[in-house]
Formats: sequence, structure tokens, C-alpha cells
Amino acid sequence: MNATELARRLKMNTKELLAKLPELGFDIGKRAIKVDDKLVDKIIMAVEEDRRQKKIEQKEKQVKEVKLHDKDAQADEPNKMEIKIPEVVVVKDLAEKLSLPVTKVIAELMKNGIMSSLNERIDFETASIIGEDLGFKISKLNAEETAAQAQIVQDVKLKEILNNESQNNLVSRPPVVIVMGHVDHGKTKLLDAIRETNMVDKESGGITQHIGAYQVEKENKKITFLDTPGHEAFKSMRARGSKIADVAIIVVAADEGLKPQTLEVIDLVQKENLPFVIAINKIDKEGADIDRVKKELSEINIIPEDWGGKAICVPISAKQKLNIPELLDTVLLVADMEEFKANPKRDAVGTIIESHIDKAEGPVATILIQSGTLRIGDMIVTGQTAGKIKAMRNYLNQDLKEAGPSTPVKILGLKHSPEVGDIVEVTKDRKKIKLIVKQNNYQKSMPAPKLDQPDQGEEDEERAEIPALNITLKTDVLGSQEALLETFEKFKDPEVKLNVIKKGLGNITDVDVLDSQTAKGIILAFRVKTVASAEELARDTKVPILYFDIIYKLLEEVEERLKKLLSPQIVRTELGKILVLAIFKTNKDGMILGGRVMEGRVKNQTKIKVIRNGAIVTRGDLIGLQSGKEEVTEVLQGQECGLRFKGRGVIEVNDTLEIYEEKMQTKKFGAKD
Ligand code: GDP
Repeated sequence: MNATELARRLKMNTKELLAKLPELGFDIGKRAIKVDDKLVDKIIMAVEEDRRQKKIEQKEKQVKEVKLHDKDAQADEPNKMEIKIPEVVVVKDLAEKLSLPVTKVIAELMKNGIMSSLNERIDFETASIIGEDLGFKISKLNAEETAAQAQIVQDVKLKEILNNESQNNLVSRPPVVIVMGHVDHGKTKLLDAIRETNMVDKESGGITQHIGAYQVEKENKKITFLDTPGHEAFKSMRARGSKIADVAIIVVAADEGLKPQTLEVIDLVQKENLPFVIAINKIDKEGADIDRVKKELSEINIIPEDWGGKAICVPISAKQKLNIPELLDTVLLVADMEEFKANPKRDAVGTIIESHIDKAEGPVATILIQSGTLRIGDMIVTGQTAGKIKAMRNYLNQDLKEAGPSTPVKILGLKHSPEVGDIVEVTKDRKKIKLIVKQNNYQKSMPAPKLDQPDQGEEDEERAEIPALNITLKTDVLGSQEALLETFEKFKDPEVKLNVIKKGLGNITDVDVLDSQTAKGIILAFRVKTVASAEELARDTKVPILYFDIIYKLLEEVEERLKKLLSPQIVRTELGKILVLAIFKTNKDGMILGGRVMEGRVKNQTKIKVIRNGAIVTRGDLIGLQSGKEEVTEVLQGQECGLRFKGRGVIEVNDTLEIYEEKMQTKKFGAKD
């Protein structure tokens, strides 16, 4: 073909073409007029490929520049307001955080191809793009900050409820006591000793249930003990925003004195302004030295009462149940001074102090009622869950119809397990309950399952070899994203891996395509489109974009693709054994033998393993089988046969031939083998 003609076809001028050809590895000379017809197609393909690569490179550069520009822009604008948002945020809350009308945020979302209502939830990635476009610097709240925010909200809420009571409605309530101290100093033993000696109802036969707290009675006054010893429990409840203990008993072993955890606990109660009593334990023990403990306390400025200070110390033996009544009297004394009160007449408010799922009973939680009275049939909301109280029991497993302030009660009837530290409120507002249940369903599916996180240890190396399907998932709303990610979980298979390399809301962009190209992945678009430039880029980079508007179709596609990645497996079936009786002929590529089927049955066109003295000598194929003079397909146990062996001619009389079949089988997806 004429070089000019070829240049015209490629929409370039002849000079350009001739200059380009050496670059692409075609050597036809700078002044060539004709191009060999055999080369024409190759040249056209090479030029197109070259153009395609150039285009991709250009796009990559553009995207990089945009990213850089964004960074620079941020650096240039230190005055940009920084807003912190959580992993998931509701559109109207985002607008509130940005102090913008919600319509403006919705319009911005629309620009990015996301149709949303004001109550729609969006993920951080989307919220940050919108926020940045609207002129803010957006960063993510970390787990601690999220918890801290929740804490503030809960703290404020509980304080509001408890402090807004009119003095006239308040009556005394039992103090709530927490036992803390260094490990092995006797916290558990003390809690047991108190429970055994002062049970509220001695008639019950002494069988107590661990529900996270119990109550004892002393001189007709009740005391509530949180029976999860240790300050870890206390700390975690505190961290979740609930201050539930009124008095602390700090246990110090008389033979060991103050230890690091004792100091930590003292520090904690002082910071919290929590009244405390020091129980100097194990006074029965040899080496117990009460004065030494008091001296050590004085050294950290906790001066015992009998040394002229304010700290109340009670020497006890939890083991021998010595001075336990004195300790309880002291606790009641402290309580009297502090005057702990609540309004028993209002709807109950409280805090979850224990929560688990019981196989038979479903979600079970213990509420410490802080104010009001809780009754069977009350509708409650707590944290992310809600429900109607179906049954209520105390630590002696006795059914209660109602429970007042400071009572710990185990309750049944919640839809899900709440978290320790969640605030409990009685409500008559069915809408609120419905909303919480709905929200809870969302929350359960967050955060997104991290399929791409490699397993630990040895498996790591193994998994590195495992074929993977890398996907970018873009959806219209967060609900579908969460539902899909959750369902991807079921695609776990030891031999293939599903990596969600990227997820987000809204239309597919150039960046999505380039990221997928780097990861050699595919893009799954659920009810979203692709912007025009990204569509072109996807064509050039050959990144597949698959569109769906039905969830199960998308899941089917993913499953199909994962199945294809599974390597087929060879399945071996043992058929029978032959004892070699005679060698008739040995060729270059095989032998003709005679033998007897000793076990099982033997089929033609199968495989042979040759065994001598228990070891494998060689392997080969069974390519012909005769019984008498006739060609047969099968010979049964006990019969003699002639056979054609394809393989190395090393078989000897008395060798055993193990006959087996091999079939290729595609492994079942999801098999755990
Ligand atoms: P915790 O880790 O603080 O809960 O300590 P435990 O209650 O488990 O007690 C630790 C050990 O000290 C156990 O072996 C107890 O039996 C023992 N112990 C606890 N209180 C006393 C006591 O008053 N006297 C003596 N001799 N041993 C005690």
C-alpha cells in the first residue's frame, strides 16, 4: 500500500507516519513510498495501541494534577474550615455540620450523580468530596472521637434527665458500689463474701445469678454492688458516657500493700470525685501489716481517719468474712452523707451494665435503673435497639413486676443486644422505636466487611498465591452498598479471594477507572452511570464496567467470576489391582503384559501405577484390555487379562499394578475443604 494512503487512513500526514514507524519498531526507511501489504494491519494496530497508551498516560497525568492541585489548594487555604465527620453521615446532619441549607448539599450530591433525600445516609468518601467541593476541609472522626462524641451525647442526656427532677419528687435510693483494686488483692472474694452474708432474700436457697450486679440489705437499707470487679469495667462504662457507681471500695491486700493498679484506681476515683472506702484485706494472713498499708496511703496523701485524715479504712478478711458488716456500715455512712436520691415515680431511665445473647432467651441485658420505675410491658429504647419488657428478673432469678431506682434487673424483650454503657429510656413513642430498629439494621451492616484484609500468620503467605477478583463497587445509595458488601461475605472461599478495592456512591469517574486498572479489577455499577470521559477511558484501559439494577444479578455475576478463578481439580478414583504374571512384549513406548485382577475391577483407558516392594516404580496408561482373545472394556476381580501399558518398559513379573481413573472437576465454590 502507498505510505500516503496508509497515513490518510490513520488520520495523520505521511511525514508524521514515517517518523513514527521506527518508534513503533517498523523499519521501512524514512523515504519509503510503499508499505508492504503484510505490514499494513500490524502498523494500523500498533499506531492505535500507541494512541491508546498516550491517552491513558495523559488522563493519569490529569488525575494526578487534579489530586495535587487539591492538596496544594488545601495547603494554600489553611483557613478552610475543618469539619470532622464519621464513617457514615445523614445528609441533613452533614448540612448542619457544614452550616449550609440541606438543599445546597442535596444539589451538590446531584451534581455527582447521587440522588438523595435529606434523611439519606452517605459514606465518608462521598461526604468528603461534597464537603471539599463546598469549600470545607473534611476529615474522618476516628473510633475514639466517635466514641467520645457518643459519650458526650449520652452524658448530657443522662445528666439532663437526672438533674431536671424537681426536689419534691426525689427520695433516697440505695447507693451503687463498685469494688476496685490490684489483681489478686481479693475483689472477687469480697464480692462473694458480701453476697453470701447479706443476701436480700435468704429464703431463695442462696442460688444467685450473675447478672452484673446484686443487692444486699443491711439494717433495712439496700446496697447495690456492681459485681464485675476491676476498674477495666468501670473505665469502659465511663468511656461510654455513663457514671453509674456512687461509692468505690478500694481493696488493698494487707500483706502486699499498694500496688500499681491500686495507685491507678485511687487516681481514677479522685479524678471522678467518687467517694471511696479502703478495705484493707487479708488481715488473717501471715505477714499482714495494716499500719504499713496506712503508711503507704499517707505517702500519697490519703491520710487514714485514725491518723487524723479523711480516708476511711476498714481492715477485713474476705476469706474469713471478718468485718464485712463494718465495711457495709461504712458504705452506708458514706451514702448517707452524700444523699443519693432519685424519683421513683417517673418512667425509668438507666444504663446497660451487662448484655449478651442467650441461646434460649435471645438478647438478654441487665439494666441498672438510675431513676424512675421500670415495669413489665414498658417499651424501652437503648443505644441502637429497642423492645418491650417481656420479663424482668433480679439476681436471685426471681420474677419482678416492677423495679425502682438503683435496682439491677435482667430484662428480656429487646430486639438486639445493646452495648454496655448504653442509656435506657422508657418511651411511648412507637415512631422512635421503629426508627431505632431501622437504624439498628443499618448499623449492623456497618462497618463494611473487610474482605480485603489478609488473614494473619501462616495463612498470609498462602493467601498471597490465591487468585483474587478485585472490584470497585459504586452504588446509588449507601443501603445498597452495605447490603452488597454484607452479601459478599458469603463468597468466602479458601481458594479465591474477593477484594473490594474501592467503594463509593455516585457515578463512575476517571479516577475509579484508573484505580481499577492499577488493581487489574472490574467495576460494578449498581444503579449508577459512568461519566462520559470515564467511559472512554474504560474502553481505552479495557477496564470492564458492569451495570446492574438488581442486587441478585450483581451477586450472580460476582459468583460466576469467582468460580472461573477456581482452578479445576483432578479427582482420582482407585479401581483395582492387578498382579503381573507375564511379560509378552516390551516396546520403546510401552509393554504388553498378562496378569490377574486381585482386587476391585479394571477398566480400559485408565491409569496405572506400578508398585514393587511397596514403592512406586513408574506410572503409565492402560490403553488396551483383553480377556481371552477378546478386547474388553472391563475385567472383574479374580479374572485374568492381557493389557497394553503405555509408559516406561520397566515392569517385571510379580509387580502390582494399581489401576485408577483421573477426572478433572471444577471445585465447588465456597467449599471449605
Ligand atoms: P481479685 O483478683 O482481686 O478478684 O482477687 P481474688 O478475690 O480472686 O483473690 C485472690 C486470692 O486471694 C484468692 O486465692 C483468694 O482466695 C485470696 N484471698 C482473698 N481474700 C483473702 C483474705 O481475706 N485472706 C486470705 N488469706 N486470702 C484471701
